[in-house]
Amino acid sequence: MRPLIIALLAATLAAPLAAAAPRTAASAEPSWKKAAAEIAARKATPGADARAKNVILFIGDGMGITTVTAARIFEAQQRAKAAGGKPAGFEGGEENLLSFEQFPARALVKTYNTNAQVPDSAGTASAITTGTKTGIGVLGMLPGQGPEACATPEKLPATLGELARDRGLGVGIVTTTRITHATPAAMFAHEPFRDWEAYDRDYPSDARKSGCRDIADQLIRFRGADVVLGGGLQKFRPEGRGGTRDDGRDLIAEWQTANPQGRFVDGAAAFRALKPADRGPVFGLFNANHLDFSFDADRAKEPSLAEMATFAVRKLQAKGGGYVLMVEGGRIDHAHHLSNAYRALDETVEFARAIEAVTKLVDPRDTLILVTADHSHVFTMAGYPPRGNDILGFLRPIPGGEGRGAQDAQGNMLDQLGRPVPTLGYANGPLEVRAGGKTLSSTKAPTDPDYLQPKTFLFGSETHGGDDVALYGIGPGSALVSGTLEQNSIFHIMVSALGWR
Ligand SMILES: [Mg+2]
Ligand SMILES: [Zn+2]
Repeated sequence: MRPLIIALLAATLAAPLAAAAPRTAASAEPSWKKAAAEIAARKATPGADARAKNVILFIGDGMGITTVTAARIFEAQQRAKAAGGKPAGFEGGEENLLSFEQFPARALVKTYNTNAQVPDSAGTASAITTGTKTGIGVLGMLPGQGPEACATPEKLPATLGELARDRGLGVGIVTTTRITHATPAAMFAHEPFRDWEAYDRDYPSDARKSGCRDIADQLIRFRGADVVLGGGLQKFRPEGRGGTRDDGRDLIAEWQTANPQGRFVDGAAAFRALKPADRGPVFGLFNANHLDFSFDADRAKEPSLAEMATFAVRKLQAKGGGYVLMVEGGRIDHAHHLSNAYRALDETVEFARAIEAVTKLVDPRDTLILVTADHSHVFTMAGYPPRGNDILGFLRPIPGGEGRGAQDAQGNMLDQLGRPVPTLGYANGPLEVRAGGKTLSSTKAPTDPDYLQPKTFLFGSETHGGDDVALYGIGPGSALVSGTLEQNSIFHIMVSALGWR
């Protein structure tokens, strides 16, 4: 290890750091220094100094590498099923690539939080949007900062959204979750606990004495977002009027007063009637809670992630000048927490479609596109199924192969307890859950969209995984995407590409 450390130090000393000037002590944090050194060590790479006018950051929440592998097979097999046979080039599904897997640059990313080996989405998103790692469950604060830090905002780390806004860039935030949920909130919010989304039952009244504003309130006060699309309307409306707020405030009305030119929409038809070139910001919340899983969604009520991301890019392009846009496929994670592989893979395919649509809209010479996951899940793809086996199906013997072992009458391989075994599984999770008015269960057929994969340990909610996630990049600055990176180095890659000092 020693020669590598010396080489990194030498590179750090030799190359000027392309780090943003933080308004705080963030640059004194050990994790900031380590990330800055990682990026500085890559400055000799050809293309590393290329400048981007725009940055689009795609986060697939919980999209670990096993999820990407299974989703690429799922996508191809679903296409083959829809075509009623074998479309051109189809060899079973394993040969497929999702849209972003075709990007040229690649790195592995270490996702741990400062106090957690296996992280959560607040700490990880904050690493990406502030350049410093922080604690599990914490949004836009440094390690060691707590509720008392809300009284000294100048000591909080600046977020990607704030930095872009303060430089006069366009800002967009798009997600399939509540807009106040951890990942999108990391663009604009500073909160010691991610659950403090609104002044409602999730925000203890004692805790309100800290003076920390709830995340919904912080979004309304975050002037400078040009387009904000997702779910979570209940966090903005008072109790009795479609919301959960117990302070009587209607934040949508407050936003409209503060943005007389702005357009608020809460339905797909009104959203589809919007013109990207119209002046004023757009704020769209299409569900009281998270948007529905794509598999269950009514597209007459909720736009797809691809529709929302496409509109956001057109809106930011119409405004002119550079922009920073975050697009989250937020419900991959939620389906995994149910241990429902079908919806997790379907959400991943939807996420890949949104990336494909956006990639076609932008100029690859002036726009850096990064795609990553905030963390992994305990999701496994295992056994020795043959090529082209249904990714959702049971293990079957490889034709002509050896060691077939016990099989049932349908030709499914059996485990030592005589049970058929699906390829996909989880290390932990629930046996049965209610979601979207349905019962999802381990007793259904493995190819049923409502099937819950088997798991080793029974938890009410399947957990995140601590393994590295991938970072995919294309466009100016993507040459910095290489090797194994700390997660907060992603911030430093964006800052370097945008030329912020
Ligand atoms: Mg998320
Ligand atoms: Zn999660």
